[in-house]
Amino acid sequence: MSLPRFFAPEARPGDLLELAPEEAHHLRDVLRIRRGERVRLIDGRGREFEAEVVEVSRTGVRVLTMGLLREEPAPSPRLEMFVPLLKGGRTEFLVEKATELGVSRIFPFVSRRAVARPSPRTLERLYRRSIQALKQCGRLWLPLLEAPAPLEELLPKTGASGRFFAYEKGGAPLHRAFEPPPGDLALAVGPEGGFSPEEAALLETFDFLPLTLGPYILRAETAALFLMSIWRYHSLIREDFRP
Ligand code: SAH
Repeated sequence: MSLPRFFAPEARPGDLLELAPEEAHHLRDVLRIRRGERVRLIDGRGREFEAEVVEVSRTGVRVLTMGLLREEPAPSPRLEMFVPLLKGGRTEFLVEKATELGVSRIFPFVSRRAVARPSPRTLERLYRRSIQALKQCGRLWLPLLEAPAPLEELLPKTGASGRFFAYEKGGAPLHRAFEPPPGDLALAVGPEGGFSPEEAALLETFDFLPLTLGPYILRAETAALFLMSIWRYHSLIREDFRP
């Protein structure tokens, strides 16, 4: 069986380090790993190391980082996803899927027509979910997760050359976002209530083109998952991925 993974952004070969409290809890209380056992550490910046657990106590877990096991090149071209804050854990769900599907940067946005509002713990919850997904799926790059904010604060941060937003009122055909290959791509999906006219206008000011996803009205998370999956499909073809 392969060794369990833990997230340790500061891992360096030869260094002794203390795991963060959530990681220590996972190692000690969930997986019941003991001193002397081997684990893997991922730094979220493309590297995975082997490590030995040197101390397990109520107050913490210390590990000795050993050799590099695996490296993964930084994702390129990149996908940036603008996803609305949704109720019922659906933004967490989307952050998990975005992590698994290779998204580089996630912008959770507060929308006029959305039901959900951010709490001080929202960012932390989304971040934890992204780390869990990373550990589970074996990706080595943690997506950059922005703090939830209105679109007007987040849109200026994108550096993508291709920019599209899924618009239920219609727009360019879907393939325009992916063919010809756009280089770095930014995609935005609206909340339950759809984008307000002001938000659609704002997106267009930032050179986002409206895109249609077909005749049916999809729920926000379906629309986002659909777009991320198409992007992943194209990027695997480009990489000529073979297991
Ligand atoms: N309440 C709105 C629909 C919102 S759907 C209405 O009844 O019109 C949530 C989001 O998913 C939308 O803002 C859009 O970004 C995306 N979406 C869903 N279906 C779509 C479609 N057929 N074409 C383009 N975008 C769609």
